[in-house]
Amino acid sequence: MSFRIEFRGVVQGVGFRPFIYKIARKLGVNGFVKNTGFGVVVECDCSEKKLTVFLTEINKNLPSIARIDNISIKKIKGKWRDFSIQTSTETTEIGSVSPDIGICDSCLAELFDFNNRRFLHPFINCTNCGPRFTVIEKLPYDRSSTSMKNFKMCFECEKEFNNVESRRFHAQPISCNNCGPEYTLLDSKLRRLKDWTLVGKLLKEGNIVAVKGIGGFHIACNALNVSLITKLRKLKDRKFKPFAVMAKNIEKAEEACFISENDKTLLTSSVKPIVILKSKNFLPSEINPKLDSIGIMLPYAPIHHLLFYYSNLDFLVMTSGNLSGEPIITSNNEAFEKLKGIVDFFLVHNRGIVNGCDDSIIKNNTVVRYSRGLAPQPLNFDFGEGVALGGELNSNFAIARKKKVYVSQYFGDLSDYDSFLRFKQSFERFLNFFKVKPKNVTCDLHPNFKTTLLAETLTRDPIRVQHHFAHLYSCMGENNLKEAVGVVCDGFGYGLDGSAWGGEVLTSEGKRFGGIEEFKLLGGDEATRKPERILYSILRKKLSEEECADFFEKIGVKSIATYEEMFEKNINVLNSTSCGRVLDAASFACGVCNEKTYDGEPAIQLEAFAEKPVKTKPVIEKNKLIVSELFSELNFNKTFAGKIHDYVARGLGEIAVEACDSTGFDSVCLSGGVMYNKIITSILKEVLEKNKIKVFTQKLLPSGDGGLSFGQLYYNLLKDNT
Ligand SMILES: [Zn+2]
Ligand SMILES: [Zn+2]
Repeated sequence: MSFRIEFRGVVQGVGFRPFIYKIARKLGVNGFVKNTGFGVVVECDCSEKKLTVFLTEINKNLPSIARIDNISIKKIKGKWRDFSIQTSTETTEIGSVSPDIGICDSCLAELFDFNNRRFLHPFINCTNCGPRFTVIEKLPYDRSSTSMKNFKMCFECEKEFNNVESRRFHAQPISCNNCGPEYTLLDSKLRRLKDWTLVGKLLKEGNIVAVKGIGGFHIACNALNVSLITKLRKLKDRKFKPFAVMAKNIEKAEEACFISENDKTLLTSSVKPIVILKSKNFLPSEINPKLDSIGIMLPYAPIHHLLFYYSNLDFLVMTSGNLSGEPIITSNNEAFEKLKGIVDFFLVHNRGIVNGCDDSIIKNNTVVRYSRGLAPQPLNFDFGEGVALGGELNSNFAIARKKKVYVSQYFGDLSDYDSFLRFKQSFERFLNFFKVKPKNVTCDLHPNFKTTLLAETLTRDPIRVQHHFAHLYSCMGENNLKEAVGVVCDGFGYGLDGSAWGGEVLTSEGKRFGGIEEFKLLGGDEATRKPERILYSILRKKLSEEECADFFEKIGVKSIATYEEMFEKNINVLNSTSCGRVLDAASFACGVCNEKTYDGEPAIQLEAFAEKPVKTKPVIEKNKLIVSELFSELNFNKTFAGKIHDYVARGLGEIAVEACDSTGFDSVCLSGGVMYNKIITSILKEVLEKNKIKVFTQKLLPSGDGGLSFGQLYYNLLKDNT
């Protein structure tokens, strides 16, 4: 009998065909395997019993980076004399672009095997690992469509490339010490050093080095050298924002932080993300000022292993190579220009980075930054057809087509022009990858976001989705929900009434059910940077001008006359319900954070300061959580920090219970950047589950603004179906 077997999922660019080939040969099954537009197809003749064994073997031994979502089998006619791998002919349909894959164990073993011809080759890779998305210019994926096109394979590499028995069969970025890209080491005056491996000695001696890697540049230095880290903070003008640290291996990582089994799996997975972990305070506190957690990752590119090998260090600071607010640097010249004055040396290579990609970040099992290793994997969601441009901070875009959703890498803050430019170029490249025309274009409701303006150039009438509803739909979409109540908390989103929302209880029917009481942001955006302004306006809701003046004098804040004037006369104020801003005010009141120097800083530090919640009885009036009630006790200390977490979470949880009663929904989605706060999510869960409500969170996509584009796509689908 003969069969046609179709495999869908992550089956291309992951060594799937040679894998099938080997099993077929072992079992004596004749036929062929080939790539197609939708995945991989096998045609073969064998008994039905043999077919079962064949499929069992495939499922049992699947390469770790491959993923089968669907197998369909039908009987056909055909006879073959052996089993072969056919080169693909169909190019009308488009497959997907694999994310980059961290170095595999086999390549790592070869990297340090003196007898291997790739001994210490900084670009070693195979079908199971190596760069993918970051080197791909267009589809279909073959070497001539990547930045490897300028490197001609040597005879031996070519032999492996064409040998189905080899782990490097059709490994497009294949290279070796004879034919691959090369590293070059330069000093700050761009004078070339004779041997790039001197970088190890230079790092050991306390130099700061710009290192070109997979998705862009890192700035690297010894993470145990306190004065060096302080120096780097000054040079990079980065006061408190934590630096990510790369540990030599998992054992070293465990010396620096507490690692659960689950986090260990994440750290060592082929994605190799930065994982935010509880610190053991082994690494200097200058790395993560005022925080109890630290971002750790393991080496994911061969060059990282070589940095540890040549330097004999155990921990390296590996922070994104960029200027504050700008996108990650990908080209050598840009690095020379922008990082001179910051780094002492440049370690660069001559392979182009086509798609810049920051490291992905995971915290409490939730994706904070969806980027290298994750983007742009095909996600199995049938959201119809559409393109979504997301928000402005922590931005990305997403495309839905043919039962898949592709979420792009992270672009950071698009108010920076270079970041926006890169966003736009990548968006155009994706349209080309997937051969889609912008259709059903969705964007944020904010009239001035660059992404909104871009949407307006694509279509006359883009579908505008309010920020917090997009967060709700993002969580619903991920969890396959058609209706739900949402508790959505973050720093800022443009509301339906034009005010700054951010502490919302919403229903999927589009109703703003309740949330945090409204307060005034004195001086608009300036209040975001200076939390004392928010504190003033919250306190002033319950206290008189004199009482406020007394209090602020006690804590040493002058010049509140202007605050009073703004408050009283409504000059230069923006109304807000932002949960993030309430936490900022609490952080300031407790003396934890006076000024925000990076996104989320006051609230993140407040969580570390509080350590645990302290139970409260929230005051709720007409589904509005009266936070000013708790503040007006004027008792700001560690207990208050615990209380405000409880107050916000319990209060919003109780309002969500009301919303469920009123709508008849039994599911609540938690989303928005505040949901990275472990104390708040755990109380919300407790309150809701006690009321027999099912609680859903985001795991696949960020709770923060990196989840907006996905939510916008789902909104577009639901809107058409109801
Ligand atoms: Zn490999
Ligand atoms: Zn070679």
